[in-house]
Amino acid sequence: MRDFDLVVIGAGAAGLTAAMHACRHGLKVAVVERMGVGGQIAAAERIENFPGFPQGVSGAELGPLLHEQADAAGAEFVLDTVERIVIEGDARIIHCTTEALNARAVIVAAGSALRSLGIPGEETFLGRGVSHCASCDGYFFAGKTVCVIGGGDSALDEAMVLAGPAQAVTIIHREATLDAQKALVDRAGANPKIEVILGTAVDEIVGEDGVSAVRLRDVGTGVTRDHPVSGVFVYVGLEPNTAFLRGTVALDASGHIETDIMMQSSVPGIFAAGDIRAHSVAQLAAAAGDGATAAIAAVRYLKERA
Ligand code: NAP
Repeated sequence: MRDFDLVVIGAGAAGLTAAMHACRHGLKVAVVERMGVGGQIAAAERIENFPGFPQGVSGAELGPLLHEQADAAGAEFVLDTVERIVIEGDARIIHCTTEALNARAVIVAAGSALRSLGIPGEETFLGRGVSHCASCDGYFFAGKTVCVIGGGDSALDEAMVLAGPAQAVTIIHREATLDAQKALVDRAGANPKIEVILGTAVDEIVGEDGVSAVRLRDVGTGVTRDHPVSGVFVYVGLEPNTAFLRGTVALDASGHIETDIMMQSSVPGIFAAGDIRAHSVAQLAAAAGDGATAAIAAVRYLKERA
């Protein structure tokens, strides 16, 4: 089993920032990631609210820069999936699919997965008209009509990405008002290709060989109708990736890790950073801030036990 001072789980903005800070404080750090670096930002077309980039930056540019900085600081990268953490005295054993890593401290920055709607047709047409990634799949809908489900920042951001190739984009939201930042609502409102339907739930994704429509229900009247579309992009929030931690650290009702203000979880030596922790504002800059805080807290924790 390989030994590390600190194992960081997740190579998104929170994890990479934590690893970079911890290395600069002299810790031997491994970063375990199951897919590739960047986390959620990897698919972000344009990030306009991260400090230092007044013209905005794409996730494809920022992710590798964060990786390069953590790598240059000395972090070791491990491509694997964490299955559980076992506590043995002061040791925190991170069991991955192919190996176990022995650490004295852990920062969990495993982020979130996109939530599904759980409606008929969603699974059937996944990858054949239903998608969670406008920047990856938008191109397939060039000149076609698509819809985006959800009313948060992601829904509006992705609707604007889709408005490039698509002929028309309809944002469908179940509430009477959108939840997204005003800057995004204003910009989407000014785009002639984007229409917004409010107070409307989607009950089913309809089609035969591919998607042909979404079945809409007016939440006030209950009246249903079919709205023709070729593609459906679902952005209805995030679920924390904490299934592997159940029974290890305290989670809140929605599965986020409970922490104190220094990112310490209910288990000494296990910290959390980014949108996986309870009360996170789920913004990129905040994830980086959490990562720095968790790294400093881990450094102090290890110093106290040296
Ligand atoms: P979110 O903020 O949680 O919004 C989810 C949206 O989906 C809400 O409008 C919600 O409506 C709706 N929704 C949830 N469950 C639904 C269901 N079963 N059926 C229909 N609609 C449903 O999620 P997000 O937009 O993915 O953003 C996640 C976080 O990342 C946020 O903190 C956001 O600010 C951040 N983010 C920031 C940026 C940016 O700064 N540019 C970009 C993307 C994301 P209800 O109100 O009815 O629940």
